Amino acid sequence: MTKDNSIYDCLIIGAGPGGLQAAIHLARYNRRVLLVDRGGGRTSHASHIVNYLGIKEISGRELIASGLEQAQHFGVEVIKDSVTSVEKNVVFIVQTPQGSFQSRFVLISTGAVDHQPRLRNLGRFFGRGFYTCVDCDGYLTTGKKLLVMGNSLNAARLSLGMKQMYTDDISLLLIDFTLPHDYEAVIRDENIPILFGEPVALLGEKDLEGVHLADDRVIKCQAIMATFGWHLNDSFLDGLSLDRDHENFKILTNSTNESSLPGLYIVGAMKTGHSQAIIAAGQGAVAAIDINRQLLEL
Ligand SMILES: Cc1cc2nc3c(=O)[nH]c(=O)nc-3n(C[C@H](O)[C@H](O)[C@H](O)COP(=O)(O)OP(=O)(O)OC[C@H]3O[C@@H](n4cnc5c(N)ncnc54)[C@H](O)[C@@H]3O)c2cc1C
Repeated sequence: MTKDNSIYDCLIIGAGPGGLQAAIHLARYNRRVLLVDRGGGRTSHASHIVNYLGIKEISGRELIASGLEQAQHFGVEVIKDSVTSVEKNVVFIVQTPQGSFQSRFVLISTGAVDHQPRLRNLGRFFGRGFYTCVDCDGYLTTGKKLLVMGNSLNAARLSLGMKQMYTDDISLLLIDFTLPHDYEAVIRDENIPILFGEPVALLGEKDLEGVHLADDRVIKCQAIMATFGWHLNDSFLDGLSLDRDHENFKILTNSTNESSLPGLYIVGAMKTGHSQAIIAAGQGAVAAIDINRQLLEL
């Protein structure tokens, strides 16, 4: 069978752990793979990943850099660009400012963006006292004086969970949010003080020492777990109608990570389920094996 070389076997959007693992698997089936990534992203912002099998500790940036090197070693083409749209006719057409690319399959691993409060010194303490992911960094708050902050019911739930798992010394700071009475009673029963205010700065030189509020109060703490919501990097999918969860948020897939649009696979934070680097990588491997199976049948 002759093969049209202007068409990729799989175009992968986003060099998160899921996209990279899929790229490595597909390249090792000698498939023609293009990976388009704009740089940055959630994994790159992780100063340390310590729950990845076989790796004691690695920065997110190092994990991505070594994954890119591994993928390129097996022949994956990589371009730095931002995808603006995906369409499907006979094949997929993926648009970026640099051009238009055609592919039989598309795999998306573009992740999400956490909403952060505007706080002075956030960069100094992000991942070093100021945390946003319990699954990733909750362990680091063990036995610490902890402040849970947020602007939704999630913050209240988080404070109860943190108390059960990591530390007794917890306060809850709510920003522009009032708790329903039943929740307030549960939190108070757990001896978690509830505070209200607008945080403006993190305090401390080397170690986190507290939070400065707009009304000049200071809340002392050694660690913060924050939850301010997040959004998906999915605006380039606006032209496609994909099945989503009951909140019309995350994208639904089948067990091999194929979405409701045949040939379009979703891995990582964009799809329903838990979001961790090792989970995204596993999803990438499953998707790649399934894409290859479908290519064998073409
Ligand atoms: C602070 C922090 C700490 C974390 N710590 C851990 C940890 O310890 N352990 C763990 O397992 N997980 C950790 N995570 C979570 C983990 O990084 C992600 O959940 C996981 O890697 C899944 O990411 P992803 O592949 O969905 O997306 P990402 O890793 O965010 O990658 C998405 C990629 O897609 C690119 N992209 C986005 N839009 C476009 C577009 N339109 N065109 C081209 N490219 C695009 C982005 O630039 C980025 O490179 C942490 C996350 C954060 C924020």
